[in-house]
Amino acid sequence: MGIPLLDLKKQYLDLKPEMDAAIAEVMENAAFIGGPKVKALEEAIAAYVGTKHAVACGNGTDALFLIMAALGIGKGDEVITTPFTFFATVEAIVHVGAMPVFVDIEPGTYNMDVSQVEAAITSRTKAILPVHIFGQCVDMDPLLEIAERHGLVVVEDACQAIGATYKGKRAGSLARAAAFSFFPSKNLGCAGDGGIVTTDDEELAVKVRKLAQHGTTKKYFHDTFGVNSRLDALQAAILLAKLPHLDEWNAQRRAAAAVYDDLLADVEGLELPVTRPYGEAVYHLYVVKARDAALAERVMGALKDAGIGTALYYPLALHEQEALAGLPGFVRPSLPVAESCDAATFALPCYPGITEEQQAFVAEVVKKAVRS
Ligand SMILES: *Cc1c(COP(=O)(O)O)cnc(C)c1O
Repeated sequence: MGIPLLDLKKQYLDLKPEMDAAIAEVMENAAFIGGPKVKALEEAIAAYVGTKHAVACGNGTDALFLIMAALGIGKGDEVITTPFTFFATVEAIVHVGAMPVFVDIEPGTYNMDVSQVEAAITSRTKAILPVHIFGQCVDMDPLLEIAERHGLVVVEDACQAIGATYKGKRAGSLARAAAFSFFPSKNLGCAGDGGIVTTDDEELAVKVRKLAQHGTTKKYFHDTFGVNSRLDALQAAILLAKLPHLDEWNAQRRAAAAVYDDLLADVEGLELPVTRPYGEAVYHLYVVKARDAALAERVMGALKDAGIGTALYYPLALHEQEALAGLPGFVRPSLPVAESCDAATFALPCYPGITEEQQAFVAEVVKKAVRS
């Protein structure tokens, strides 16, 4: 029984008529860049997330970069973030010329440990960039309170968290601005690259839009230097067809996570993900932590031998990456919780449509490997 880490083909086949019609419509109208589909998607995402504005762009990495650039963050500034995330989070900081400052994470949720943020603030700190890792929101209220007291702007990396809630509000509406990715494997994914910025701040939305289209608001007149970061109409059409299903898919991910929570409770040497009661997580990934890297390797080997998809998230924390060591002025911190995850945290298949039988099989393989 082969079980992938994520079954994207099933998702397409389930929605084939709607998806094919959406794609055909774009082809027939031949409006490939911008146009009504992209505008409709921006409105739909803003309404879904609960912000006044949404600006589509080329990918989630660009969404983060465009926000940083539009906020005027740059050389000499520091941005506090988490070391336990995809590399794009820190690239956005470095590419505007700012310095990333990492704080450690909490065990169990793997989110930024908000209680450590205040000690990391210096006179150069301009922003805080929390990441809702694996689809669970960071504890935003205490973070926003610290930011407010120190006059800092907070930006959400919500790339893994579309649909997740915090005290009744959706990820992407919790701070000044947020970045989402529509990379195919994300909870709402397109058929290529895509991203979007959400914000209530109209001025910021206008700046992001301008920077994403070569620094122009009037064609061939440029008042600043921007980049080319657009969402294709084809991708927008695909996303519009999928969006009405997102809540159901996220509910199925949560249900599958609860099944693993039961099946794998009390497995010696394995730490299950912790969910906080302040909101609903969307389980972009269901990540377990092995006692050590050797056990993770053994369990992952057994999963692979059984035809079950798995991968390390993340094999190496960002503050330990070679790229950071080469960043002039970067001082590598000691972050024991993040470092304890290196090569020890791995994902189990947890996607909409996975069956309880498949999950029972995964759990069997895991338990047997742990005992062996
Ligand atoms: C996927 C992801 C990104 C980058 O998104 P892309 O669309 O691949 O550029 C950024 N941050 C996090 C946390 C992500 O998971």
